[in-house]
Amino acid sequence: MINTYGQPLFPDIKYCARCCMPETNEGMQFDEMGICQACQSSEQKIRINWVEREKELRKILDYYKSLNNEYDCIIPISGGKDSTFQLHVLTKVYGMRALAVTFSHTWFTETGKYNLQNCLEKFDVDHVMFSPSRSLVNRLARQSLFKIGDACWHCHSGVGAFPMQTAVRYKIPLLIWGESIAEASGRATHRNPVRKFDRDYFTQVSAKRYPEEMVNSEISLREMSAFKLPSVEDIEALGVTGIHLGDFIFWDDERQMEFVRDVYGWKEDKVEGTYKNYKSVECRMAGVHDYTKFLKRGFGRGTDHASQDVRAGLLTREEAFELAKKTDTERPPALDYYLSITGFTEVEFNAVMREHRAKVTAGGGLTDAAFNEAVQAYRASQVKP
Ligand SMILES: [Zn+2]
Repeated sequence: MINTYGQPLFPDIKYCARCCMPETNEGMQFDEMGICQACQSSEQKIRINWVEREKELRKILDYYKSLNNEYDCIIPISGGKDSTFQLHVLTKVYGMRALAVTFSHTWFTETGKYNLQNCLEKFDVDHVMFSPSRSLVNRLARQSLFKIGDACWHCHSGVGAFPMQTAVRYKIPLLIWGESIAEASGRATHRNPVRKFDRDYFTQVSAKRYPEEMVNSEISLREMSAFKLPSVEDIEALGVTGIHLGDFIFWDDERQMEFVRDVYGWKEDKVEGTYKNYKSVECRMAGVHDYTKFLKRGFGRGTDHASQDVRAGLLTREEAFELAKKTDTERPPALDYYLSITGFTEVEFNAVMREHRAKVTAGGGLTDAAFNEAVQAYRASQVKP
């Protein structure tokens, strides 16, 4: 047998020369050295003048405080570690009077429920939460697989639309998210951050479909209220805008997690599909989301996290490929729950994913045969004799 230690899972697709991100990642761009945008961004991050950036942040926050509205800002929160960190920075450091807003995916883990409740108590903030009905979530989870190739349209769409609706409803023009788009998405870099507020950003980048496109014989437009974006007129009349804290302060996932854990009692948990225990601990379906990404694009969250660790100097690229292969290829136990709520058999599920993969990788090196062969060979190599 050939030794594939430290090699990527799929030899025929191109990977970043520094980390483990493949060309099949959406919006992937390489520079002339074959280095991806996220890697470029992580190098720039060290050279950004964060003192100047922080002054800009202070100016923005001071302006919104001076308006003397009932609330100075909305903080969209999920209960993840970023939520607790955002609340700490904005309420404790900058003294913002914040309204916390949660769109509930309704797939909370016990740890996630605890973390959400814990941060509301610790920071003593008002909170608005919207939870769609169980049957709607189940029907959308099925439709989502056909439409976008993952289980989570309702979450992608709701976390974008509902805080914006709340901004308009309560007349709070400033939304403040956590991590910068430049951090790991590869859609921006720290030198050229995305600063302009874009009403349709979440739809275009993560939800991919507007609510009316999800309607079918089982789902009516009437049921979709939490997913509808406010009108452009309403957004402009109020001057709704949004910023990411990570564009103004140096963002360090690991240190921030340790901080919110040690100071505020935020809890880690095991997450399917990766070896890190602090990302997406609030959602029991994270493993399914990441497994569908793997089936569609040939990499999952293991690759994302391992690549971040390469950029941070914590892993060599070879070690990272090994970790990524192991975690990406694992069938998540939550898939059983997903199949049970959607009525798909696993054969049907795999067939839908195969079609998505064919679209994503059309013309590339990830044919159906190549995909299956590589995954089977890797899984076989992992079976202990
Ligand atoms: Zn890279």
